[in-house]
Amino acid sequence: MAANSTSNDAKALEFIEEMTRNADSVQENVLAQILTQNAHTEYLSGFNLGAATDRHTFKSKIPMITYEDIQPLIQRIANGDRSPILSAHPVTEFLTSSGTSAGERKLMPTIKEELDRRQLLYSLLMPVMNQYVNGLDKGKALYFYFIKSETKTPGGLLARPVLTSYYKSSHFKTRPYDPFNVYTSPNEAILCEDSSQSMYTQMLCGLYDREQVLRVGAVFASGLSRAIRFLQLNWKLLAHDIRTGSLNPTVTDISIRDCMARVMRPDPDLADFIARECEKESWEGIITRIWPNTKYLDVIVTGAMAQYIPTLDYYSGGLPKACTMYASSECYFGLNLKPMCKPSEVSYTIMPNMGYFEFLPHQPSSTHRELVELADVELGKEYELVVTTYAGLYRYRVGDILRVTGFHNSAPQFQFVKRKNVLLSIDSDKTDEAELQAAVENASELLKPLKTTVVEYTSYADTKTVPGHYVIYWELLVGKSGYSEEVMEQCCLAMEESLNSVYRQGRAVDKSIGALEIRVVKNGTFEELMDYAISRGASINQYKVPRCVTFAPITELLDSRIISTHFSPSPPHWTPDRRF
Ligand code: AMP
Repeated sequence: MAANSTSNDAKALEFIEEMTRNADSVQENVLAQILTQNAHTEYLSGFNLGAATDRHTFKSKIPMITYEDIQPLIQRIANGDRSPILSAHPVTEFLTSSGTSAGERKLMPTIKEELDRRQLLYSLLMPVMNQYVNGLDKGKALYFYFIKSETKTPGGLLARPVLTSYYKSSHFKTRPYDPFNVYTSPNEAILCEDSSQSMYTQMLCGLYDREQVLRVGAVFASGLSRAIRFLQLNWKLLAHDIRTGSLNPTVTDISIRDCMARVMRPDPDLADFIARECEKESWEGIITRIWPNTKYLDVIVTGAMAQYIPTLDYYSGGLPKACTMYASSECYFGLNLKPMCKPSEVSYTIMPNMGYFEFLPHQPSSTHRELVELADVELGKEYELVVTTYAGLYRYRVGDILRVTGFHNSAPQFQFVKRKNVLLSIDSDKTDEAELQAAVENASELLKPLKTTVVEYTSYADTKTVPGHYVIYWELLVGKSGYSEEVMEQCCLAMEESLNSVYRQGRAVDKSIGALEIRVVKNGTFEELMDYAISRGASINQYKVPRCVTFAPITELLDSRIISTHFSPSPPHWTPDRRF
């Protein structure tokens, strides 16, 4: 087995070398393949490419687009039009992105072969990791993985998140045994749509296997932080189940119960150990206390997830945090060839076989807005990622800003800088300035009868609470009758009701986001904020109230001026149905 794994690893590493050595020619071929495959689609036919598959013709005829440009075409596919609109291959399902358009998740059409391409990228992760960490075949991975609910479009296609699609695929469900990828979580638990039953079971299995666990993870850092919080809230029930060998009756999912019947066994010593550790006041280092053989955390802590680094460091005593890959619903992009590096040094190498990639220079002052090839990006510069995929996105702006940090062979490596226009994010939710503004406007309607207005506002993603939550600072011009706690709570809820579907799902169903909080600050606070900015060099003429604040002295100033705080009394409305 070991020899086999070694030769598989060698093959995977050689594949990475080959792709990255020939980045430019691989890209040329990928574009030619995509254009040949999709030459007769309605979309490409409309641009008179003829039979051309070269980069020059492609660039001169096909425009760069955003989701909104192709939304009418996507709508037709969703409504059941099976003609080759964007892709010659049949669209098998829609992947629902955490990026939204008009408040709803964007729908990304996908085709069968894309699943193989995603699988290929996954198959490279362990061979890379094995270069840095030994013995990962000698134990298990405690990964908290979840699926989400799926819907059908009016035309009958499934619409669901890319990871739900992957976990439900045979690639994942009937994967062959691989000693480097043995998970403590049974498929039955991962595939349970009820996230609390799923989490409970995954945690229970992780506790039973605690000495075998060599790595602990979740897709994003927010998920792992939530899992630890879950343990904090539920350890007594979990310890009870372990002591008695019986599964808590609130776990009602039949397939979980069947599978756990084979796992559960009374283990009073383990139950005592868990109780002893979890009872301690401090939860510092809890991960390594409970899972003492953990070598690293497998979680993405780049981009918006960087805000969770201090929490994870606290829980794990500073274990390395491996950010292994960079992917999206549109396309899986690439991997981190040095997964054990520090979070600040994480760079992703885009694999040139995954799609055709172009880069829009992001330097604000630059007038040079020509798209640049993968092999031609320049060290130190920032670009917006633009993709062309086999599934039928052509020159599509993903919305991510990347900075070139180096090269592996001739393939550039990128630091993830940020997602464009995202003001607030706790989990996979992304709230932009316009959405926040609309939410404040809607909520402030409730203050009108009180002759009270919101004079200024700003916001902050508070991840010190688990789950994290949005904090909105309001400075009010208060009418004669003042405002009540009740009306302010309704304002919190009204804001939440106005936010996009990903936010509301996180709040109402996944419970990955906590109740929105409004902090009312004293009159004059925003003047002080401006004075502070000016004292640090901002120009009075150009000063604009920041709609999101992260700089500690600013949040401290705001917090020191609080008059009252209010929380949303209930989660906002969310249903899986979307407006098609
Ligand atoms: P979705 O389409 O919902 O799967 O979200 C994909 C987006 O998540 C990407 O476009 C990025 O903005 C973000 N993302 C994915 N992987 C990473 C990563 N490794 N680091 C930072 N952000 C990421």
